Amino acid sequence: MVNKEETLKKLAEEIKNCKKCELYKTRTNPVPGEGNPNTSILLIGEAPGYWEDIRGKPFVGAAGKFLNELLAISGLEREDVYICNVLKCRPTFEGKNRPPKPEEIKACTPYLDKQIKIIGPEIICTLGNFATSYILQKFGFKPESVGEVHGKVFEVNSLMGKMKIIPLYHPAAGLHKPPMKEIIRKDWERVREEIETGKN
Ligand code: SF4
Repeated sequence: MVNKEETLKKLAEEIKNCKKCELYKTRTNPVPGEGNPNTSILLIGEAPGYWEDIRGKPFVGAAGKFLNELLAISGLEREDVYICNVLKCRPTFEGKNRPPKPEEIKACTPYLDKQIKIIGPEIICTLGNFATSYILQKFGFKPESVGEVHGKVFEVNSLMGKMKIIPLYHPAAGLHKPPMKEIIRKDWERVREEIETGKN
């Protein structure tokens, strides 16, 4: 049987030495991802931000705190899931976060593809537009903006088995626009329902 923890560690080492796009020049630390390698739930965000880059861990800033609250709505803790991003290094412009560029996504997503293959999740929650459109497209759906499809469930029957994709707003959206928080919390109730359905 494949040791998922060891395989993910080896992949993280590869990511730490990666120079496949320009972002290696400005990163403090790459952020391969972390969590339970034997989970059935994979969360995919956009890219590391300021604090993630400093600490080399995903979702450690204010958005991470809100994510913990959202996970609790679904009856989950960080230790129950695996969390990673589309990009493993922080994209910046004049010291601020910026959206990933298409060439960075192209260079970096083979790592994400490997993570999905190693973990073999039953549920993928995509957080924000970039993760949503990449994952929907990867599994044969039309790429959609998260505003159109948040809280919906896309069923996949792939070589890895049956899987559900649940697009969700990025937790940072709730921090930028506090009224969004309620919409986001409601979507996470849907995640809880899907987890409970999977248990039956
Ligand atoms: S963002 Fe991805 S492809 Fe670019 S240097 Fe970092 S790990 Fe490599």
